Amino acid sequence: MKSIVLLGSTGSIGVNTLIIAKRYNIEIEAMVAGRNIELLNRQIAQHKPKVVVIADKADKHKVNHSDVRCGDEAILRVIEESKSSMVVNALVGYIGLAPTLKATNLGKRVALANKESLVVAGTFIDMSLISVIDSEHFGLWYLINERPISKLYITASGGAFRDWDIENMKDATFSDALKHPNWSMGDKITIDSATMTNKLFELLEAKWLFDTSNIDAIIEKKSIIHALAEFKDGSTTAHFAGVDMKLPIAFALMGEITKEVLQPTNLLDIGTLEFLPIEATRYPIWQIKEHILNNSHLGVVVNASNEVAIEKFKQEKCSFFGMSDIILDAYDKFSNVKAKNIDDIMLIDKEVRAYALTR
Ligand code: NDP
Repeated sequence: MKSIVLLGSTGSIGVNTLIIAKRYNIEIEAMVAGRNIELLNRQIAQHKPKVVVIADKADKHKVNHSDVRCGDEAILRVIEESKSSMVVNALVGYIGLAPTLKATNLGKRVALANKESLVVAGTFIDMSLISVIDSEHFGLWYLINERPISKLYITASGGAFRDWDIENMKDATFSDALKHPNWSMGDKITIDSATMTNKLFELLEAKWLFDTSNIDAIIEKKSIIHALAEFKDGSTTAHFAGVDMKLPIAFALMGEITKEVLQPTNLLDIGTLEFLPIEATRYPIWQIKEHILNNSHLGVVVNASNEVAIEKFKQEKCSFFGMSDIILDAYDKFSNVKAKNIDDIMLIDKEVRAYALTR
């Protein structure tokens, strides 16, 4: 029986991963969650993992399991002790990086939703062990064939404010930014969608996965087309699939799928499609797109300042556009850093966070 270690079981990707695991009879050897103990207990009852890790010791007594460990170090130890050859990393943010490195260093395959791992440290990750969980990159993987490609595209929904007056966006709140038009996801990626930082991250993710900087993004408002491949002969192919992460998750876990995971797209229901450019007036982060694609080692700077900026926005210490101000300021300040190894990455991450906090 196939088994996995699941990091982030109580999140949006984690919950969908458990549905796919049930369907394909995959055992959950270990389960890692943060603070949603109520959901975790339901998951434990259903999937019976051998070991559980949670974020905070104070919650330990609430977890209905005989082997509960706590904290970031425990996550790494559980990966080390596991017999599973696959780790599903659905943690959110920088905390996902160390488990990705731990798993790949042990030669385990990582089904990776935690795109921050690649954004921050793509150059130090063994890509041959990564199976990506992201709809756009799954779409690209599906489209790419033997024919010569001229350019790759991923699509963006445009996020919560795509139809707002830019003037009104200046006063937008955290809860406004959480109203994603198409996807139901965790808070952090939903904010990243509103600022377009998520798409910037996905371009970097694509760079590491497909070894190309010849990639761009456009807005497709219905999120039905996830990716497009433009071929040298002038053809363009597009990947259509429902707004549902179960398909990329199923492929990442199983490698090959022959039976229906999602219902096929009903083109007549969709009717019309609209494509729009991503403009830096609405999405200021887009100013650095070309530069960062050619300087992907600066991903660590954008990620660290972005995580600080989101927290500030959540606590009403900065405005919606204040988030991109913080990131662009840090990007400028740290434009000369270049990590030679993972220790450097950790150091840069710390320095950028400290700087961003003062902005
Ligand atoms: P969620 O916020 O929904 O889930 C995050 C998970 O991480 C939760 O299980 C949370 O636990 C857990 N977690 C957070 N902090 C800790 C901690 N310190 N220790 C242990 N566990 C922790 O995020 P998503 O599922 O939306 O996203 C996860 C990753 O996947 C992100 O990198 C995102 O960019 C990427 N992704 C997500 C997509 C989506 O559709 N959601 C699509 C493509 C990529 P708890 O909730 O119990 O606190």
